Amino acid sequence: MIIWGNYDRDRNEDTGRFECPQCGSETDFTLVRTWNYFHIYFIPIAKQQLVAERILCEECNIAFPITVLAGNAQMVESAFGSGHGSEVQQWP
Ligand SMILES: [Zn+2]
Repeated sequence: MIIWGNYDRDRNEDTGRFECPQCGSETDFTLVRTWNYFHIYFIPIAKQQLVAERILCEECNIAFPITVLAGNAQMVESAFGSGHGSEVQQWP
């Protein structure tokens, strides 16, 4: 009997600094991507597809959508004052 299937796995793919909307200051972040893998006997064979990606603040440990980086350049206040905060997703 061959055991095979798919599973999701988080990978820390990048780090950098950003202005965290929660902390209100410049902090380190980790870019976390969730990949779906095809596995045989639980050995990952191939990255199937990107399931999700998020920016994790190293200070407050809150995950933000990746668009948080785009809004960081100049207009942090306007970006987050116009309802973008509702896009923030919490990951277990
Ligand atoms: Zn933070």
